[in-house]
Amino acid sequence: QKVEWAKLVNEKTVSKDGHHVELAANIGTPADVRGVLENGAEGVGLYRTEFLYMGRTDLPTEDEQYEAYKTVLEKMEGKPVVVRTLDIGGDKELPYLKLPHELNPFLGFRAIRLCLEKTEIFRTQLRALLRASKYGNLKIMFPMIATLDEFREAKAVLLDEKKKLLAEGTEVLETIEIGIMVEIPSTAIISDVFAKEVDFFSIGTNDLIQYTMAADRMNEKVSYLYQPYNPAILRLINMVIKAAHNEGKWVGMCGEMAGDEIAIPLLLGLGLDEFSMSATSILPSRSQLTQLTKSEASQLAQKALAMGTAEEVVALVKEMF
Ligand code: PEP
Ligand code: MG
Repeated sequence: QKVEWAKLVNEKTVSKDGHHVELAANIGTPADVRGVLENGAEGVGLYRTEFLYMGRTDLPTEDEQYEAYKTVLEKMEGKPVVVRTLDIGGDKELPYLKLPHELNPFLGFRAIRLCLEKTEIFRTQLRALLRASKYGNLKIMFPMIATLDEFREAKAVLLDEKKKLLAEGTEVLETIEIGIMVEIPSTAIISDVFAKEVDFFSIGTNDLIQYTMAADRMNEKVSYLYQPYNPAILRLINMVIKAAHNEGKWVGMCGEMAGDEIAIPLLLGLGLDEFSMSATSILPSRSQLTQLTKSEASQLAQKALAMGTAEEVVALVKEMF
């Protein structure tokens, strides 16, 4: 199987009936880019920048961040790189920020919420990203967006930093797509409205599932409720994809579900444009996708949307493929 997969490294990901989807990889550090290229990913769909901030005693400087972003962009040689701004909180802590202990960290002061309050941290990261942008195909993505106001505010801060850099004579990539993670149900539900203002969505199913099912993704006791194939999740994904396509925007997915063998036919059928996953999943997923047809997958997805349980959905996928 490994040998068969290896043949696909330089191939595009095209379904049997000619539909192209993009397979991208999730990374945490510049060193991860090697695996991304070796496995033939067409881009980086999620660069989790929080690792730059972790395992140290103070915040990374603008220059340290600039070097990291520049390295990733250069190594990717013009392929798209979606960089997610700081997503700290929940399961990822930064002791040196000395944030107050919270009863429900996953529902608390994290990610964009923290960045919009501690704006110096946010502005430093955005400046580093903007300065690095000229070295590749940078796209910027905000995590944990729950309201349109948050997106507008974050975008305004980004554009403000861009204006300042340009005024100083610093070169910045002219068109940088600005997107959001869809990982909170409120955002999925009004994704039609968001779609008019964002350049792209990336569905973060790891969190979207936990928030939709009200089941902590870290809690074994309720893991039976953590159901990627629950029709409720599939319907949210369907809504987001439709909303984006209505406005001519693209939709990716960077949660674990994007590289999942059962989910892939469903996601192809729902019209997902970009699948971002761990580098090691790229070739098996490409192999799977090239053996599927978009039209059959669409029929499958439509049936799945009308089902009642996750088990029924799994049985349906297994029966059809
Ligand atoms: C997600 O929530 O699906 C996601 C990709 O982000 P993280 O796993 O970093 O929370
Ligand atoms: Mg998340």
